Amino acid sequence: MSPVPPAGTRSPRYYASIDFDALWREFPPAPHFFQSTWMLSPDELRVLQNERFLRQMQRAWQVPFYQRHWGAHGLEVGDIRSLDDLSAIPPFSVHDLREGMNANPPWMDYIGIDPAADEPVPLILQTSGGTTGLPRPMIFTPRDREVMNIITGRRLYMQGVRPFDLIQVALSMGLTNGGVLAREGIWKYTGAVPVMTGSGAQTPTRRQIEILKAWKVKFLVGFPAYVRHMGLVARDELNIDPRSLGVRGLIVHLGTEDRASLEALWGADVFDTYGCNECGTMAAECHHKFGMHVFEDAFILEVNDPDTLKPKPVGEKGVAVVTTLFKHAAPMIRYNMNDVTALAPGECACGSRHKRITAIYGRSDNMVKLRGVNVFPEAIGSVVSQDARTTGEYVCLLDADAGGRDEMTVQVEVLQAGGERAAVEQNLAVRLKEALGVSIKVEAVERGAVAKFTGLTETSKIKRLIDRRQSRSPR
Ligand SMILES: [Zn+2]
Repeated sequence: MSPVPPAGTRSPRYYASIDFDALWREFPPAPHFFQSTWMLSPDELRVLQNERFLRQMQRAWQVPFYQRHWGAHGLEVGDIRSLDDLSAIPPFSVHDLREGMNANPPWMDYIGIDPAADEPVPLILQTSGGTTGLPRPMIFTPRDREVMNIITGRRLYMQGVRPFDLIQVALSMGLTNGGVLAREGIWKYTGAVPVMTGSGAQTPTRRQIEILKAWKVKFLVGFPAYVRHMGLVARDELNIDPRSLGVRGLIVHLGTEDRASLEALWGADVFDTYGCNECGTMAAECHHKFGMHVFEDAFILEVNDPDTLKPKPVGEKGVAVVTTLFKHAAPMIRYNMNDVTALAPGECACGSRHKRITAIYGRSDNMVKLRGVNVFPEAIGSVVSQDARTTGEYVCLLDADAGGRDEMTVQVEVLQAGGERAAVEQNLAVRLKEALGVSIKVEAVERGAVAKFTGLTETSKIKRLIDRRQSRSPR
């Protein structure tokens, strides 16, 4: 190998690959964003979205995945003339992305970058948190990544983060995007300082708490189950009242987990956030905690019927279908996330008219049909975490009985060993029946016992449903 590179070889430079002033005019970072795009009227937002959408469509037509997917549905370039035609575009889901997986990994056909032909730019690769087989790669260009970082900065600003605050990020650092993306956004666009403790496997929970206390961490980013676990370890094992630690905000994907008990445990505000590996943060609560505002200058978020994919009225549950307005690599046009949510009614007191969604109620493909009733494991968690005798930790075990009928057992961790167990089992079974409309068996187990199923202290990708039916492939 020659130490001297051949003539013509060059290494692309990150800061030369973006016109930052133009980028910041188009996607204002905080705090400027809150005096500009944030306050646009719905009509003004629509004009802005329409222009960006048409540009995004132009780019998408260059991507082999869309040529194939849209071509198969008979869509032609001239068919989409404005945002009004959005519903004519056939949606896709993660299953469609997988079809193109093996062409030339990791340069999947949905990414639209060809190393053999394209000018080099600095790229980042992160993946989905695949549980079986190879994870699904996603590649980001500098500008794609900066927009995502700007949005991270905006959401943290509106949740109260300010320069020199310390933000502890208890999300895995590795192939999956969550932890890495949080670090970039905090570092580049808030002035706060990320403290990357990672998951419990990377920094043991007790050490996480010691760091949080010693360095006076102000915000904690993590999955709600792990944030709750940290609080309980502090309180019950280290004799540290989490409320005394001065943490102001817990930044989580709340889903249907119980906000009140988590806020009471830590004496801090819980802020719900919605994002994905492919797009970063798409929506987040402002300090009024009145639904998650969609960052509509970067995303179009539809809430549609899961079967017909027609729009759902405000307040009714459907699946989130996302269209990005900024991505060069892997633009997402009507990506059916299969996450169940609803558009939030009313107007937020912050004055922004950006569309809001309620909570994420679960994944439609994680839903289990028990005796004709649709059950989300996440909804079970919501009931469990309201019972102060539990740690909030649970796992749903799905089995087929002798007659082939599906049966679900929920294992729930209780704080106290001994006599309380029977009472917890009985009470929770009654409350689950009330909340879900179907009988589910409850088994109280000792603290820490479900971690072997969920991976709570090992990973950010916590499992709540274990499908043990013989005939099914593992979820
Ligand atoms: Zn608001």
